Amino acid sequence: MLEDIEEILIDGKAIQTRVKELGEEISRRYENKDLLLVCILKGGIMFMADLSRCITIPCEFDFMAVTSYGEATESSGVVRILKDLDKSIQNRHVLIIEDVVDTGLTLKYLVKNLENRRPASLKVCSLLNKKAHRKADVKIDFVGFDIPDKFVIGYGLDYAGKYRNLPFISVLKPKIYTTC
Ligand code: 5GP
Repeated sequence: MLEDIEEILIDGKAIQTRVKELGEEISRRYENKDLLLVCILKGGIMFMADLSRCITIPCEFDFMAVTSYGEATESSGVVRILKDLDKSIQNRHVLIIEDVVDTGLTLKYLVKNLENRRPASLKVCSLLNKKAHRKADVKIDFVGFDIPDKFVIGYGLDYAGKYRNLPFISVLKPKIYTTC
């Protein structure tokens, strides 16, 4: 796997340090509130697992899966729910846990969709923020790292279903894309 990697953008230690800071900030912000973490599958899985263990207030988990890029590396802009939440979020304080916001189209759809379900509050926490190709005006309340316009893999993020288990955020070697 390591031979497919061009560079490591954020190493595991830096991720854990930032995740801990975010966990502390979220714990302060939601003190005495009934917090529901909504993980966007599959990319948000590692972030959710580590972040939630740095949150020191009680919280519940739910999961949603939406279409991402499939096996391409650019957003189609078309969002489809593959797996919906298990429970109602009405009157709940909901925090969306995303892996990366790129064009913002997925997040825009998600926020609109979840807002219609009348939560008490709806905020967004994204590990990565790629602003270069932003097409939708979306607010990210908690950001792990701003990153350059590169297709990244690792720590939950995939390319064609693989590389999610890398413990760092990295960039694929360009030759991999041209084989598809
Ligand atoms: P957006 O709709 O903001 O363009 O993209 C949202 C989704 O596209 C993310 O949740 C993620 O699944 C996927 N995505 C965007 N950029 C990247 C990237 O650099 N690497 C990977 N693996 N997925 C990405």
